[in-house]
Amino acid sequence: ESPYKVSVVGSGNWGTTIAKVVAENTKEKPDLFQEDVNMWVFEEQIDGTPLTQIINTKHQNVKYLPNIDLPENLIANPDLIATTKDADVIVFNVPHQFLGRIVSQMKGQIKPTARAVSCLKGFEVGPKGVQLLSDYVTQELGIECGALSGANLAPEVAKEHWSETTVAYRIPDDFKGEGKDIDHRVLKQLFHRPYFHVNVIDDVAGISIAGALKNVVALGCGFVTGLGWGNNAAAAIQRVGLGEIIKFGRMFFPESKVETYYQESAGVADLITTCSGGRNVRVATEMAKTGKSGEQVEKDILNGQSAQGLVTCKEVHQWLESSGHTEDFPLFEAVYQITYENVPMKELPSMIEELDIVE
Ligand code: NAD
Ligand code: 13P
Repeated sequence: ESPYKVSVVGSGNWGTTIAKVVAENTKEKPDLFQEDVNMWVFEEQIDGTPLTQIINTKHQNVKYLPNIDLPENLIANPDLIATTKDADVIVFNVPHQFLGRIVSQMKGQIKPTARAVSCLKGFEVGPKGVQLLSDYVTQELGIECGALSGANLAPEVAKEHWSETTVAYRIPDDFKGEGKDIDHRVLKQLFHRPYFHVNVIDDVAGISIAGALKNVVALGCGFVTGLGWGNNAAAAIQRVGLGEIIKFGRMFFPESKVETYYQESAGVADLITTCSGGRNVRVATEMAKTGKSGEQVEKDILNGQSAQGLVTCKEVHQWLESSGHTEDFPLFEAVYQITYENVPMKELPSMIEELDIVE
């Protein structure tokens, strides 16, 4: 049996970092993986030169992951279909608002035996309700899809500073361990590095919900930080946020496991690291300090990167409103109201106050 061919779809801050991780492993394990990893790049010109050309000659993604050397077996390609058509394992890693267009172009163009892993943090919200991105990939492309999520600020992982992550993959019922199907062992071999410690579990829903919703909590955290209220206020937001994440999981994805939120890197650890120094918290802090909109601040300070909480809080609001549950998630709702409905940030404490009065 020939080794697995691995491709990465996406080349932003995290997309490029995970592509580096994967390409380091494929190079070291020729019996298991083909050495070259193709990475799809949403092409753009940097001072008149295509970004793919810069990545393939300088071996750095100068725009989205500057000053980090990339392995030479990582090959940038602006053609999505050429990048993925022969892949046995497709690693998705783009800001989630772009996923729909990408998978629609891939339909019918990939191997039916391919398997996927989503490193995205977000949901797909449509007429059918709120959907995990891994389920969306499976629905659109007809291939099994797992997830990777953890306390992983990309710049730290790219510098090979130690962190942990969680990979989740549900082995399909008809898995026979033959051919190009993947199991937890293959996934660990693909993502684990000395500086990036992987735990593989089967709770795809749990890690995906935690990963998507912590971005909304991080906006709330940034608001109180930007108002100058300090660590106690930030901790309060994280406490309430963790509770709402777990409640959301139990209400809408009962298959997710509560222990995932407490015990996995993708759970409370990701909430803590994102609220300490991620892009979402930085954007919200700047919104509080300047009074500018989230969209404007994202443009001003992120140089083309995306604060996914801005999209996710709107999607979560749409879903909670249509399902009649806004009152059950006061923090998620407050973050939406502040971000999009001009509610003053200083109202946040009263919006999340628990109204149980002790008699
Ligand atoms: P990013 O925020 O750096 O976004 C920039 C990327 O989006 C670039 O590759 C750009 O080319 C691409 N892009 C812009 N317009 C596009 C379009 N119209 N179509 C397709 N692509 C377009 O991206 P990222 O940091 O790689 O994030 C990917 C996912 O990983 C997100 O869901 C994010 O939440 C998650 N994540 C990020 C980090 C992190 O620290 N950056 C860590 C863990 C998870
Ligand atoms: P930000 O997108 O807020 O930077 O968070 C990155 C992340 O998901 C860390 O695990």
